[in-house]
Amino acid sequence: MSGLHCEVLVVGSGAGGAVTAGRLAEAGRDVLVLEEGPWHDPDVHEPFSPAEMVAKYRHHGASAALGAPGIAFAEGRCVGGSTEINSGLYHRLPSELAAEWRRRFGILDFEDALLDAYADEVERLLVVSQLPGPPPESSAVLERGAGKLGWRATEFARVFDYPGGRAVKQTMARTLIPRAVTAGARVWPEARVVRLRRKGRRVVGADVRRRRPDGTVERCRVGAEQVVVCGGAIQTPALLQRSGFRAGVGTGLKFHPTVKVAARFDHPLDHDTVPVHRVTEFAPHLTIGGSASRRGHVALAIADAASDDLADALARWEETFVYYAAIRSEGAGRVRVVPGLADPVVTYRLTEGDMSRLARGLVHLGEVLLAAGATHLYPSISGGPVARTRADLGTWWDAFTRARANLMTVHLTSTLRMGEDPALAAADSHGRVHGTENLTVNDASLLPDAPGVNPQAAIMMLALRNADALLTRI
Ligand SMILES: Cc1cc2nc3c(=O)[nH]c(=O)nc-3n(C[C@H](O)[C@H](O)[C@H](O)COP(=O)(O)OP(=O)(O)OC[C@H]3O[C@@H](n4cnc5c(N)ncnc54)[C@H](O)[C@@H]3O)c2cc1C
Repeated sequence: MSGLHCEVLVVGSGAGGAVTAGRLAEAGRDVLVLEEGPWHDPDVHEPFSPAEMVAKYRHHGASAALGAPGIAFAEGRCVGGSTEINSGLYHRLPSELAAEWRRRFGILDFEDALLDAYADEVERLLVVSQLPGPPPESSAVLERGAGKLGWRATEFARVFDYPGGRAVKQTMARTLIPRAVTAGARVWPEARVVRLRRKGRRVVGADVRRRRPDGTVERCRVGAEQVVVCGGAIQTPALLQRSGFRAGVGTGLKFHPTVKVAARFDHPLDHDTVPVHRVTEFAPHLTIGGSASRRGHVALAIADAASDDLADALARWEETFVYYAAIRSEGAGRVRVVPGLADPVVTYRLTEGDMSRLARGLVHLGEVLLAAGATHLYPSISGGPVARTRADLGTWWDAFTRARANLMTVHLTSTLRMGEDPALAAADSHGRVHGTENLTVNDASLLPDAPGVNPQAAIMMLALRNADALLTRI
């Protein structure tokens, strides 16, 4: 087993890891980033294509939390993490939520002025913009439907730049990873941290499995003065548990559980992009928007529902688009490592209130799509009835049961909550794991609860703030 040493070891290169590595490297620290996934040129794979899922998603996109119902979820596994595969929708952490978290979890340095200053900085590091022209039809549908019902709808900002008119998502592999490398950080792709090595209250390094360019695997040991774990809300607690950290690690998992409807219109829609409009009438507890809708996504969404015209529905996929309703959930989940398994077991329990909010979300989604002119609605209910009129939507209430609901999520948080009280939080206000001297977590795991909005902005803002706090300690 070979060995080497660095000052700061960053595990994972997604929203949290790229920010951390960039900040510390630019402050002159010797940074090594270990990323389990491969390093792909961000321009090579078509966004939301099957090839992208194989290349950049963990388990090629097929992960699920066990429960009744189970909930499918997705995580990125590549340099840049989930920012490489996400939709790039950007929303600051709502100030009233930050205030609630500050009170409930005893989080220090969490006042609006400080958080706003870091959010401003994230927006200077990336390009956060509105669409340069009119919205695509798939997005306009939401605005139109909401307008007819008198509901609020908003165009969300995205982390997109438009050089020469081409839309380019500001992923970490395009932005902060190159910055970190320019400042001297080393980035090793295909290097999985299997376990952290401990000595008393200190972490002294990590055991790593690294795939060499020739495909062989080397095991090595990396020594570090400081370790910052940024593997995301599922993998971070799994790594800490494998390393013997248990208290508050992996409990309290939060999702934005999501239901979907494939909506057919009487004209083709664009399928290249994800809608930027959201229906915010019921926010933050219920949000309605649009999903990636390549042919495969549409086919899967249609196949959920009972349809006597399945072949015709599939043939007309270009007139069909997938929309969603996502909730803030009262329920919670758990990440648990099992000896002998490389991946953790994830579970999630939805409350009766969650189930009823999801059913309501599905019906509101149907209402807005019908108001926008949809002719056929295929709900994400196994064998669920296709709705063509507002009256048909009533049948969804009874059909939406734990046995038949098909749910998914792409927002995963809260498995190592931050706060000063170790009884409520596994890490302190700046991500340092309670009871350790030099182990910090700096990713989605730290959010004390699901934010009700797209989480990347909050994760990056906190990661910058926590990297600065770490710099004052080392
Ligand atoms: C399909 C999809 C769409 C989304 N859309 C949006 C959106 O529009 N807007 C938004 O704000 N958010 C969106 N999100 C969520 C957002 O991308 C994530 O919340 C955010 O990227 C999480 O940041 P993170 O740093 O916690 O983890 P990630 O960005 O997931 O990065 C974690 C990285 O750590 C690596 N890693 C894990 N364990 C190890 C280990 N042991 N050793 C080495 N490396 C390891 C992983 O391979 C991964 O690359 C979306 C997510 C998905 C999946």
